[in-house]
Amino acid sequence: MDGIASLPEPQNEPVLDHAPGSPERAALERALREVAAEPMQVPAVIGGERIETGRRIEVRAPHDHDLLLAVGHEAGAREVQRAIEAAEAARAAWAAMPFEARAAIFLRAADELSGPMRARIDAITMLAQSKTIHQAEIDAVCELADFLRFNVWWAERIQRTQPERQPRGVWNRMDYRPLDGFVFAVTPFNFLSIAVNLPTAPAIMGNTVVWKPSTATLPGSLMMLEVLERAGLPPGVINLVPGAGPEQGEAALDHPALGGIHFTGSVPTFQWLWQRAAQNLPRYRCFPRIVGETGGKDFALVHPSADLEAVVTAVVRGGYEFQGQKCSALSRLYVPASLWPRLRERLADEIAALRVGDPTDFSNFLGAVVDERAWNKITGYLQLAKEEGEIIVGGRAEREPGWFVWPTLVRLDDPRHRLMQEEIFGPIVSVHVYEDARWEETLRLVDTTSPYGLTGAVFARDRAAIVQATERLRHAAGNFYVNDKPTGAVVAQQPFGGSRKSGTNDKAGSLWNLIRWTSPRCVKENLLPPTDWRYPFLEG
Ligand code: NAD
Repeated sequence: MDGIASLPEPQNEPVLDHAPGSPERAALERALREVAAEPMQVPAVIGGERIETGRRIEVRAPHDHDLLLAVGHEAGAREVQRAIEAAEAARAAWAAMPFEARAAIFLRAADELSGPMRARIDAITMLAQSKTIHQAEIDAVCELADFLRFNVWWAERIQRTQPERQPRGVWNRMDYRPLDGFVFAVTPFNFLSIAVNLPTAPAIMGNTVVWKPSTATLPGSLMMLEVLERAGLPPGVINLVPGAGPEQGEAALDHPALGGIHFTGSVPTFQWLWQRAAQNLPRYRCFPRIVGETGGKDFALVHPSADLEAVVTAVVRGGYEFQGQKCSALSRLYVPASLWPRLRERLADEIAALRVGDPTDFSNFLGAVVDERAWNKITGYLQLAKEEGEIIVGGRAEREPGWFVWPTLVRLDDPRHRLMQEEIFGPIVSVHVYEDARWEETLRLVDTTSPYGLTGAVFARDRAAIVQATERLRHAAGNFYVNDKPTGAVVAQQPFGGSRKSGTNDKAGSLWNLIRWTSPRCVKENLLPPTDWRYPFLEG
């Protein structure tokens, strides 16, 4: 086909509200019943082939231990090796496929996801990750559809970026090749959108991928791989290898054909991956690209001029939605003494009213935390909060019928207490009350307390205070919010990522991420090659 096609201009996928009586609510309730009816099998998918290894990984609803949603089949080193071979075998044909043809696959997948598959994907996300319908919808449907549609759009923009100068007789062109080997995508439990974005973004740029998803996302990941296959994704372009991580990680990173790592998860895992890659450098055939987005200890700094009710809403939504298991979740709050008595009262009232339980009961605002390991870690921090802080509200946790932790607000006198520094990844917000006169000192404190630099917010009406905080906290957050909660970044609106220990800051949901998955080649063509090598100056 000849012709330079224009891509459809992407729009953010609208969030459906699932109000009682709405058609989407009826479809969702049906899908919830269907998805819970029988556990799904999640095999390894290698070169399009389904491989049931029999090494079982159980996926249960975090809020209901009795609800078995899926049985994954763990891929061992041998399967990872085969997945790499399948990715390598698919490389040439995939890279050679015209960009429009590749793009159409992802656009079609986005339409199937936001159309016929919407209710099922929402349902499995609610059950497997214990998300309310709103949290499932903004993640697994809207953000994921946005990633697919906008990434294709940005990929085209990158391709249109060509050398600025074409002197007479010369034609310079850029060829945006994929990387020199397979991409290893390692994805977190908390967002299906991220889980699918990490393998698809490199694939859009012509790479082939070995994808190791997290256990809680196994059923949603397979559903989305099947959506991509129905949209025409060739076998071997994205290969799925379920597993706990270390075994698959070693097998993938020790392979000479590693071209890149696309990771989102915790700091220790990212450090391990990077170190392993560094050890293996001499055996790789290229220098692998490494992109990793990691943790956060995200702050809200309240100025004495702040609108109190805006702060209350930001703490409730930013701190406790999805049980605080977002890398961007608000987890340290700085409040001036002049506002504290009233804010304390308002927060205590609102937080105590938040309902915790099964997210398929639509009146619940929080579900359960993801698994026993997370529950143990979070309740360890609760214990610390009880011993060394003042619990304003919350402090409760139960292991039955699911991994429940109640939204907790703890006050700490020591602004550098562990609870103000470490990522908890649960529904605990730590608050420090500062003297109003110590605003400047508090800015320094916010900037230097935690090793992370992901998200943060300032609440103020005083414009000078906003200007000052924006400047002084420049490196404290890669996503900075003024009078808004620090969560809920939207693709193409707030490119997402932070620096310091929060990652490489390659900004998921933007052109900057996609640029990492291409290794450009420049082609210079001489339209009228010179035929005499002598320069005029040589004549004397
Ligand atoms: P995790 O690090 O425990 O796991 C992430 C992935 O790495 C999982 O698939 C896991 O199985 C895998 N893994 C673990 N060890 C491995 C190894 N040796 N080799 C290969 N893979 C290995 O993180 P998690 O608990 O799934 O996610 C929560 C973390 O992710 C939090 O720290 C959170 O802040 C972070 N996160 C960051 C962002 C961001 O954009 N910055 C977004 C979401 C989550």
